[in-house]
Amino acid sequence: MEFNYCCSICNKNFNIVPELTLCPDCSKNQEPDQPLLGVLEVKLKGEADETFAVSDLLPVEPQYFPPSPVGNTPLWEPFNLRQKTGFKNLFIKDDSSNPTSSFKDRASFLVSAFAKKFNINDISLASTGNAGSSMAGIGAAAGQRVTLFLPKTAPKAKLVQALQYGARVFQVDGSYDMAYDISLAYSQKKGGMNRNTAYNPMTIEGKKTVSLELFKQLGLFTINGSRQNRAPDVVFVPVGDGCILGGVYKGFRDLKQLGLIQGIPRIIGVQTETSDALFRAFTTGKFENIPTTTIADSICVDVPRNGIHGLTQIKQYKGEVMTVTDVEIIQTRASLSRTTGLFTEPAGAAAFAGFLKAAPRLDPNALIVVLTTGNGLKDSASASLGISVPQTLIHSIDDIL
Ligand SMILES: *Cc1c(COP(=O)(O)O)cnc(C)c1O
Repeated sequence: MEFNYCCSICNKNFNIVPELTLCPDCSKNQEPDQPLLGVLEVKLKGEADETFAVSDLLPVEPQYFPPSPVGNTPLWEPFNLRQKTGFKNLFIKDDSSNPTSSFKDRASFLVSAFAKKFNINDISLASTGNAGSSMAGIGAAAGQRVTLFLPKTAPKAKLVQALQYGARVFQVDGSYDMAYDISLAYSQKKGGMNRNTAYNPMTIEGKKTVSLELFKQLGLFTINGSRQNRAPDVVFVPVGDGCILGGVYKGFRDLKQLGLIQGIPRIIGVQTETSDALFRAFTTGKFENIPTTTIADSICVDVPRNGIHGLTQIKQYKGEVMTVTDVEIIQTRASLSRTTGLFTEPAGAAAFAGFLKAAPRLDPNALIVVLTTGNGLKDSASASLGISVPQTLIHSIDDIL
């Protein structure tokens, strides 16, 4: 297999080198506080049949992979939920079982390998929390130094997690967007590799692995009477910067290019009503920089950095973006846990809330996958809003009889 970069706007091709992050032509017109212009995609050239290994379709050779078991996350058949909702082919792809408990490990894994290949030992990034704790953990496995810029609002567990893995952490007195800008300035001064989402093309490329896995994993189930490798009909994806969204599309597009699937699934991106930049752009065609806030910290983003690339694909492949409220997230997060035994963080619950909201207009026979992207223990403080914690202490069995 051969690989090169291709600009997602002008389609110009480039060699894959770490110095190049955005298309030099298209990024010239970049305005501040707008989604990135000239996001580069990896393009593959070659053939593969359905026995491919995921690593065959990645642009960095396995000898550089970090020694951390990223990916191959479980695909759940939520029987109670299927019964309750009437969707008999509903699946949950649980990415909270990655080594650092979030989907972000897919991107960190490939960025780490890419840096290793070019003997780069310093990786820096901005993060709402998970990308940082992920890069810190994967970097620790690979022996790379990680410098992280976090907004002050990041949940404590994610900060502690990154520090536990030995990363250098700076807390930014402002939003994720401010952290993003500072981290870019840091990389420009200090060198090393920047892992910022969408800015580093390996983030999107790493995230595509979820689609490749789904294709193979779905082949292990008998669905509507047949058993074969296949793509889902519909995938629910939580959206912040739109990089998971872009990666999910990229994986299916690779499969289509290789002739392994016929069509691209319908991807439904889920945002929150109070952090809905991509949803607004989907509706109005314009990206406005409006300050956001939501309980789902992982998708709290003013300017979706991969917004243009994500939106272009949504339009081209007839996907959509929808919103849910924080209250819906809190409620469905608890109900998801109670019916499945899965505890996800608010962003993961957002995808599930999106599915419940869209359910009336979906075909109950459709093959549907909901991506739960992060572990609930990363933000247990917000979970306590959806449950009631006992207020009194007992001293003996008599107190409760
Ligand atoms: C980062 C993240 C998302 C959103 O991914 P984007 O690529 O920013 O759209 C969703 N869920 C979790 C748990 C995340 O950490």
